[in-house]
Amino acid sequence: MLPEIRDPTVSVEEYLQELSVNTVGWSMTEQLLGLLPVVLGSIRKRYGGGEPPEVRIVKSAELQAEGGPYALRIYIGLLEFALGLRYALPPVVAELEGVTIDASSIPGAFFLWAVAHEQFHALRRHNNVAARYRDPAEGEAALSQAIERDADLCAVAEVYRMNQWPDVCPGASDRQVKIFTMYCLFWAIRTLPKPIGDSHMGTAERMWHVMVKLATLKADGSPPDFQCQEDDTLEMFRALALCVVQCERAYLRDIAPGEPSIVGDLQYRDRDVVQLWDRIYAEMFR
Ligand SMILES: [Zn+2]
Repeated sequence: MLPEIRDPTVSVEEYLQELSVNTVGWSMTEQLLGLLPVVLGSIRKRYGGGEPPEVRIVKSAELQAEGGPYALRIYIGLLEFALGLRYALPPVVAELEGVTIDASSIPGAFFLWAVAHEQFHALRRHNNVAARYRDPAEGEAALSQAIERDADLCAVAEVYRMNQWPDVCPGASDRQVKIFTMYCLFWAIRTLPKPIGDSHMGTAERMWHVMVKLATLKADGSPPDFQCQEDDTLEMFRALALCVVQCERAYLRDIAPGEPSIVGDLQYRDRDVVQLWDRIYAEMFR
């Protein structure tokens, strides 16, 4: 007998047809799912991975996406989290004042980040890397956090590239696009349910790594300034840190009064994870 299928899946088209057009959030759902072909195609083009994966929507409320090189399964819970993402409006970040921002780009950034993160697990062969570097004496936590960090950071670059599209932040400077990308990802990382177990880094560390990644990326796609050798990188990092602090103040004021602030934890603490990631980094390229 075939095993029972626990959660049925449907195609994106079937899912949109099943949802009534009158459902709250229908057009935003359509917009989010509409990002997939563009984004998956662009990731594949740069990573030389052939056809984009087939997308299936899983009818389950779990906040999750999963998949390999040929198939990507997006859970309804992930879409619902994107649609219900809580955030304070952009003026909380001083440098974004005057920039016209489409409100859908905030859930869009989270959705893209989550989907790209899953794709990078497959494209950067994280299963092989995990099998090769697994060391029972060291435990699993550092290795899995280094791999999650890799997927997170590749996905950050995708969100930044999307936010460079001229219709996302019309007229914004590259500095403002980076700050806007940090602003979008702040709300996603800050409001995600706390992970169970220690396979992901904590909120403050995840945020810190996003700040560093954005500061080192180059607008024109040339190699990032990983070693922070240029003054511009440091200056950008300061602006991103200020953005995070301004968002955190608004978060504690409007969304989660009484929660402890993450600002004090925003520092480069987890050297073990970073050193391990440096060691296994080369493995992740095809
Ligand atoms: Zn992951």
